Order: sequence, then structure tokens, then C-alpha cells
Amino acid sequence: MQFTIVFLLLISASLNVYSQNAKDFTNEIFLKRLNKDSLYLNLKKKIVSEFAPEKPGQWGEFVKGVVRNINTRNKIIAFTFDACGGKNGNGYDKELIDFLQNEKVPATVFVSGKWIDANFKAFLDLSKDTLFEIDNHGLNHKPCSTDGKSAYGIKGTSDIGEAFDEMEANALKIEAITKYKPHYYRSATAFIDETCVTMAAKTGITVVSYGVLSGDGVAFASDSVIEDNVIRKIKPGAIVIMHLNHPEWYTCEAMRKIVPELRQMGYTFVRLDDFEKSNLIK
Ligand SMILES: [Zn+2]
Repeated sequence: MQFTIVFLLLISASLNVYSQNAKDFTNEIFLKRLNKDSLYLNLKKKIVSEFAPEKPGQWGEFVKGVVRNINTRNKIIAFTFDACGGKNGNGYDKELIDFLQNEKVPATVFVSGKWIDANFKAFLDLSKDTLFEIDNHGLNHKPCSTDGKSAYGIKGTSDIGEAFDEMEANALKIEAITKYKPHYYRSATAFIDETCVTMAAKTGITVVSYGVLSGDGVAFASDSVIEDNVIRKIKPGAIVIMHLNHPEWYTCEAMRKIVPELRQMGYTFVRLDDFEKSNLIK
């Protein structure tokens, strides 16, 4: 473990670009660069050979080792917003972000490499606002699988090497742009296999699923339906899943109802990182 982490620190240093020019960081260019980086390639080789004998294990949103909730009895919850990208939506719900900023609601944002490519300026703005914590939603928004399983019609990564790139390359891409390497990862669709979760842990990544499904992505979900889904299931420590990449959905309208309602119920809002140090993430 220690050895792997040292390796990763060296890779970060070798990618020491920290430019903020969108074209230096497209998935295609960034992966090309990693594929010429001997440290990255050596680590990938080491992980692939270590996990090659493993069976994928269970496939799902809540397999062993993923985080569903914050472990607390206090009335705190974490809103998380996915930015999926590519065919799964390259939009940016600016109205939602404006609302969170105006209301000073901290939130965790899971971004894919594809979404960053389509929204570089918005991504930079989000990353500079301390209200938001940026985390990893995969390089190409593929569900993380070691044998090519699919979820909701989205084909997952086909083997251990591609799964490693999906998680690690996007974490390094986010770090190269923002100087901050996210250590939380949510697989595209939240489906993942057990081997991917163990692999993630090996490189210092914690896999996050969710405790409360807002259902903002369900066809024709109105703001009242989303509001009801959240309020009905809310409990201390809940991690709520929503999206920021579909301004045409009713996420923002629902949040306008949910936030004051939860405040009235005595809840406050946190980012996932706020809990890491106190070991409350389980
Ligand atoms: Zn997604």
C-alpha cells in the first residue's frame, strides 16, 4: 500500500504541468501523455498483474467496501451532484450552482473526464469555489468493471487495465488541472464490481455510492417527486445523489424546496471531505 502511494506521488510530480489550458487536458491528450509515463505504466502493470487472478465478485451499487452514508447520529447530510458527460449529458446546470452559492449550501461534485472536456471553464470555476468539493466520476463515464459488465445500457470498462485508467487517470487529470487529487470515486451509474473496489483502495481511492436516490434522472420526474424521494428517505448522515449536467431536469426546482425544508427539520449540509479526518465516512 505504502509503496503504491509513493508511486502515485511520483506520477503526480512527473505530470507537473498545472496549466489551465483546456486543450492540454482532453481525455485523448492526457491519456496519451500517461501512456508515455513510465511511472504510470509501471504502476498499471503492477496492479494488473496483482489483480489478474481475482474474480470480479459482486456487481452492483452497494457491493462490499463502498460508502453509502456518513456514520453519524448528527443531523448532517451530504448533497452529491454527478456531472456524467458525453452521451450521458454534457450540460451544466448553472441555475442550480447559482442557487447553491446563494444559499451557501456546500456540496460534493463528481465529474467525469468527458464532462470536464466539454465544460472546462465551468469546471475551473467550480474547483476554485471552496463551497464545492471536486471528486472523481471516471475518465470516460464507464461503469467500473473488470470484465465488461453493463449498467442501464452503458457498457462498463472491459478489463482491469481499462478500469485502472477509468479511476486513476481521471484522478490524475483533476489533480493536474486543480492541484488537488480527489480520493473519492463514484463509478458511472454507481455500479461497480468488488475487484474494482479493492483496486481503488490500493491506490488510496474510496468508492462512494449513495444512501438516498433523488431520482432526478428518472424520465418525467417532477420537482415534487424528487423532493418527496429525498424528504421521505432522509436521515442523519445520508449521502444524496443528484445531477448537475442536465439543466432540463427538475433538480434545481426540487432543491429550492428541499433545502429550506431540511433546514427547518434541523439538518445542515456538508462535503464528504469534511468527514474524512474524523473517520465518519463508512
Ligand atoms: Zn454519471
